[in-house]
Amino acid sequence: MTALAIDIGGTKFAVALVHPDGTMTRRAELPVGPDPVATLASLVRDTAVADLTGVGIGSAGPIDSVAGTVSPVNIPSWRDFPLVDTVRELLAGLPGPRGVPVALAGDGQCMALGEWWRGGHGGSGSRVMLGIVVSTGVGGGLVLDGVPYLGPTGNAGHIGHISVDPRGEPCPCGAVGCLETVASGPSMVRWALANGWTCPAAHPDAKALAADAARGVLPAQRAFQRTADALASAILTTAALFDVDDVVIGGGVAAAGETLLAPLRQAVAKQAGLGFLRRLTVERTSLERDAGLYGAAALVLPSEERTPHRGT
Ligand SMILES: [Zn+2]
Repeated sequence: MTALAIDIGGTKFAVALVHPDGTMTRRAELPVGPDPVATLASLVRDTAVADLTGVGIGSAGPIDSVAGTVSPVNIPSWRDFPLVDTVRELLAGLPGPRGVPVALAGDGQCMALGEWWRGGHGGSGSRVMLGIVVSTGVGGGLVLDGVPYLGPTGNAGHIGHISVDPRGEPCPCGAVGCLETVASGPSMVRWALANGWTCPAAHPDAKALAADAARGVLPAQRAFQRTADALASAILTTAALFDVDDVVIGGGVAAAGETLLAPLRQAVAKQAGLGFLRRLTVERTSLERDAGLYGAAALVLPSEERTPHRGT
């Protein structure tokens, strides 16, 4: 069996072939560019092989898994874009791999599933895993007993839009005080600049903020503390509902490593009440961007065919 995995991000598309034993070959990525369909076509054409058995797609949301459409916030020309049909048409134009199953899930859900499979969480006995992507937005996904929980519309795991402050800022989604209004990279930078941070770089971003926080610059540290508190609140809300074993955090903001993880673990310990909430672990992704590709592939590689992985 060979799955073609496709990761549709807001700024880059990535593809790879993934096999049930966890090997990944022909990995390639390209910037989205001015013509996203042409970029996708070029990647699929150069990567697909004749003996493909399925195609798994993880996409930035919102998505509609029933209609097979996506509306990634950072790709304005794709609104209710028929991604599944487009991939089917691309494959139909190639020798060999036509008529194979094409599955679509959110990028956060694929990240969680990829971590569960290849990050070793499933192999080490995690039954309920929450994956969170903290980047320009905040997304996530749940894996329950090895199965990604996608929900009837495919949107389960939207942890970025759990409210962490009912009196907080309005969120572009229409709600108030969403986790994303505090913890996304742009939200953190905006808050830090409004609270005394002077960015040493020409373009203030989460990376520069993380570097300053690691150096002990106070407004930058406070921005990370604020994000850690909000993330802890959303994590514990989810854990109270689903009895979560492990939380894995990926995305650009999580690249700050212990600058984010240390205050986050402290905030979880401080906010957790009930005993079962105190046992959850919080780690950074071990697979980086490949988590999403592994998870996308796992959508179409049956779990009984996949080799479990115990991590490193
Ligand atoms: Zn929201």
